Amino acid sequence: MRSYVVTKWGQPMQVVERATPVPSGGEVLVRVSAAGVCHSDIHIYEGYYDLGGGKRLLNDDRGVHAPRVMGHEIAGVIEAVGPTVDGVTIGDEVVVYPWIGCGQCDACALGEEQNCPHIRTLGIITDGGYSTHVLVPDARYCVALDGVAPEVASLLACSGITALHALRKFDERILTSEPLLIMGAGGLGLQALAVHRAMGGYGAIVADISAEKREIALAQGAMAVIDPTTEGAVDQIKSLAPSGRGLRMALDMVGMPATVNLAISVMVKGCKIVVVGLMGGELTIPIPYIPSKAMSLEGSYVGTLAELRDLLEMARDGRLASPPIETHPLDDAQEVLEALRAGKINGRGVLVP
Ligand SMILES: [Zn+2]
Ligand SMILES: [Zn+2]
Repeated sequence: MRSYVVTKWGQPMQVVERATPVPSGGEVLVRVSAAGVCHSDIHIYEGYYDLGGGKRLLNDDRGVHAPRVMGHEIAGVIEAVGPTVDGVTIGDEVVVYPWIGCGQCDACALGEEQNCPHIRTLGIITDGGYSTHVLVPDARYCVALDGVAPEVASLLACSGITALHALRKFDERILTSEPLLIMGAGGLGLQALAVHRAMGGYGAIVADISAEKREIALAQGAMAVIDPTTEGAVDQIKSLAPSGRGLRMALDMVGMPATVNLAISVMVKGCKIVVVGLMGGELTIPIPYIPSKAMSLEGSYVGTLAELRDLLEMARDGRLASPPIETHPLDDAQEVLEALRAGKINGRGVLVP
C-alpha cells in the first residue's frame, strides 16, 4: 500500500510504500476510492490549534502523534475482512465512520462516540485515508454507499455529520420558519447549506469575506450572501429577518473572534449561536448579554454514526445536494493541502488514489 505520511508536523508529507495490512479479528481492510481533504487536516498537519493570546494546543498534548497518515473522510471498497467479521462482504462500497470510540464509556453507550475520551479517530489518532488502503477496526463503522458516489459520501463522514449534528441543536420550529446565519462559505459552510435545505430549513444567509465563495453559496441556494467586512453588514443581516430586527440562529463554521462577535451583534432575544469552526482565538463577551438576550452559545463537534447513516439516506433519496467537489490524484496530497490552506479550493478537495 502507498500512503502519504506526516513524519514531522508542518514538514512536507512523504510517500511511503509498505506491506498492505491483513485484517485480523473483526477488522476490515478498505481500498480507498476517495479521501476528503478537510480543513482540520491543516491544523493537524501544522501540529497545533491556536487558542488565542499566544497560546497553542499542541497535537502531542492531545494524543496526536507523528508519523501519521491523515485523512478522516474515507470512502472505498472492502478488500479483505478479518475472520470474525459479520455484516459486510468483500466488494461492498462503503463510507467509513472515522470517530471510533472505546465502546465502554458513557459517551459510547449513548452512541456519541465522537465525544469518547478514548477516541481513536482514523486519520488523526490512527492512520487514515491519504493512502491506497485503510484498516478499519470494526465492520460496524462501514456504511454502505448503495448508489451514492464515493467522493460525495466521503465528505459526509466529517463535514456532513458535523453540519447535521450542529443543525439539530437548533429548535426545529425556528429552523423551518426563520433564516439561519451561516458564517463561512468554505467546505463546511457549503455542506451546512445543503444539509439545512435537506432538513427543510427556511433559508440561509451566508457571510464570507471572499466574493468568489459568496457567489458559490448563492449558486448553492443561499437566500442571501453578505460580505461581513462591508460597512453596514450588521444592519444588512438584521434587515433580512422577517421581523427586520435581527436573527435567532447563527452557525459559525469559521470560529474566530470576528465571526462569533458578528453573530452576537445580529441576534435578538431567545437566540442560539452554535460554533463549529476551529480557526482559533479568544472571546470576551459581556456577561449581561447572555441572560438579557436569553442567548445560548453552544459548541458542536462532528456527529454520530447514526447521523452518517441518516445523511446517506438523504443523499440516496435526492434530498441532499453535494457541495462542489474537485478531485485530485492521491499523489497531489501535499499540493491540495497547501491550496486549501491558501483558501484556493472552492467547495471541497477530494483525493482519489
Ligand atoms: Zn474533518
Ligand atoms: Zn468511549
